[in-house]
Amino acid sequence: MTVMEAGMAATIFRKIIDGEIPCHRVYEDDHVLAFLDIGPLSRGHTLVIPKEPAKTLDALSDESAAALGRVLPRICRAVRKATGVEAYNVLQNNGSAAHQVVMHVHFHIIPKEPGGAGLGIGWGAGRIEAAEAAGLASRIREAMEDGS
Ligand code: AMP
Repeated sequence: MTVMEAGMAATIFRKIIDGEIPCHRVYEDDHVLAFLDIGPLSRGHTLVIPKEPAKTLDALSDESAAALGRVLPRICRAVRKATGVEAYNVLQNNGSAAHQVVMHVHFHIIPKEPGGAGLGIGWGAGRIEAAEAAGLASRIREAMEDGS
């Protein structure tokens, strides 16, 4: 699928895939490209993107998703090895309200340095009653069965 077919403006990541602007590439295959983030939260902050021009993860084809899933752990291992950092976060934002800035699917691999550099997270855990959880899980299962 081309960018135009997907109804997307060419994002900065599309231009990186097409070689119009440079990147510090760490991995590439037919479906996936990985490169260093230009504004790293920590040393080794890496972005892993599908070549398919999808804005958010839910819009991605099974083929691209499988290709990403196949190499993501391998790239995480390489980032750990190269940086010497044991802990890391994998972050994937979808939609501006969820802090997505570049509208092309991407996974962040963000090493968490012993000194604290890396992803800072506020985790405002809430509560859910059993009846509400049962209803919600049921609606999600139905949506899965729709094949959507
Ligand atoms: P997000 O907020 O999840 O959309 O993150 C977008 C990420 O893309 C940010 O971490 C940016 O630093 C990164 N980014 C933007 N432009 C470039 C670029 N030309 N090369 C590498 N990373 C970039």
